[in-house]
Amino acid sequence: MVEYEAVIGLEVHAQLKTKSKIFCSCSTEFGAEPNQQVCPVCLGMPGVLPVLNRKALEYGIKCGIALNCRIPERSKFDRKNYFYADLPKAYQISQYDQPVCANGYLMVGDKKIRILRAHLEEDAGKLVHAGAAGLHGSDYSLADFNRSGVPLLEIVSEPDLRTPDEARQYLTELRTILRYLDVCDGNLEEGSFRCDANVSIRPVGEEKLGTKAEIKNMNSFKAVQRAIQSEIERQKDLLLKGQRVVQETRLWNEATQSTFSMRSKEEAHDYRYFPEPDLVPIEVSAAEVERIRSELPELPEARRARYMNDAGLSLEDASILVENMDLADFYDQALELGAASKAAANLLLGPAMSHFNKSSGASQTISETILSAKNLKDIVDSINSGVLNSTTAKQVLLDLLAMDKATGPVEVSQYVQKKGLSQVSDENQISSIVQAVLDGKPEQLAEYRAGKVKVRGFFFGEVMKALKGKGNPEIINKILDEKLAGE
Ligand code: ADP
Ligand code: MG
Ligand code: ZN
Repeated sequence: MVEYEAVIGLEVHAQLKTKSKIFCSCSTEFGAEPNQQVCPVCLGMPGVLPVLNRKALEYGIKCGIALNCRIPERSKFDRKNYFYADLPKAYQISQYDQPVCANGYLMVGDKKIRILRAHLEEDAGKLVHAGAAGLHGSDYSLADFNRSGVPLLEIVSEPDLRTPDEARQYLTELRTILRYLDVCDGNLEEGSFRCDANVSIRPVGEEKLGTKAEIKNMNSFKAVQRAIQSEIERQKDLLLKGQRVVQETRLWNEATQSTFSMRSKEEAHDYRYFPEPDLVPIEVSAAEVERIRSELPELPEARRARYMNDAGLSLEDASILVENMDLADFYDQALELGAASKAAANLLLGPAMSHFNKSSGASQTISETILSAKNLKDIVDSINSGVLNSTTAKQVLLDLLAMDKATGPVEVSQYVQKKGLSQVSDENQISSIVQAVLDGKPEQLAEYRAGKVKVRGFFFGEVMKALKGKGNPEIINKILDEKLAGE
């Protein structure tokens, strides 16, 4: 049987976080009442003239540099003509043959994923299909042009990805880079980071690309992964049945977890691109590119390497921290103060992350909590000096994370004292508790003696419980061993 491999290329539309739109001064703020942030330019009235937002250009160049692209000295805008109700001009100002960024790459693990181009364009308005039965059976549609003219950077990869998981990693890394550059929110649900996936399959060993289908309408990384997987399977089925894959655009249906055809190649648009006559070509000097390059922050790849080489973290831990920029910034502050790197990372990756994952809805970040980097360092120091054990350290951390910001700053040592959380290391005290536990559980002790060594963990738990979680685990273990061996 023929073995097939998948070939995937991604097109990402990233909304750039400028204050005003790309060709007019309307606000880009999300969430306003419909059609409150519009003007003749972004409504496409006849006779108006677009003016390029320099910030949008700078953000685009920033991304290009971070994605190892070439920034040509000259690029230009073109008109992409198509008619749809969300586009009042009946053309979108985009870039066709001379994009602002060309030929870059992004690393996914050790693999280089080439980026063909990244170009600037304006977003379209938003249609709300209302009445009767929603999308396909609605009575009428409402148009909101607040989004019309919001700057987008479309980033197009070469077809270098091979699996849905690689695609997810590529998107994660790309989004992290854009967030580090502070040019895009990277929010798939709100649509500030949108991804179309191009998928084809070919027999393993074959160089020629197969016919691709383009899939749209995924609004989470998981959806992208599933959509690609389902498309690969659909195409394999077709070929195994002796049928052909046809070039088409398909939409992902989250409810049925499958794709359906939206339009075939025959129905595809001829965009009749031509140079935008109302905008002068873009000129970017080498000096300007160097200035922007010199202002770039530390990027995810460099930070990951630093966490692995200097802080001794595993690739996995380093990656998780780096993807969560606010946690990583906080971690850096703690490192700056001299916190032990691994213990500090463990607290952030374990209890702190699960705290934020649980506090659903509100996008609360660590910088919005009362916990300071100094607190984190103090907690780590308290573990090392034996004042806290891992359980109580975790408790202090979680308590501080959950505390109302109005409480004001908290000192770890005072909090530990107030709550009586200091670790119990007194051997005599622990010894008598261990003895009491063993005396009180004769059945379990007999089981242990009979060879059921797992029961030791039960005894440990009982001792810890009696010490309200504050016992020094090493000393409990030592005394427990002595008593179990000695009797
Ligand atoms: P289109 O003109 O249909 O938009 P492009 O050639 O511009 O197609 O490519 C769009 C995206 O599709 C790019 O990300 C590219 O890497 C990807 N792509 C092109 N050909 C294939 C293929 N045969 N299989 C998978 N992806 C492909
Ligand atoms: Mg395309
Ligand atoms: Zn406007």
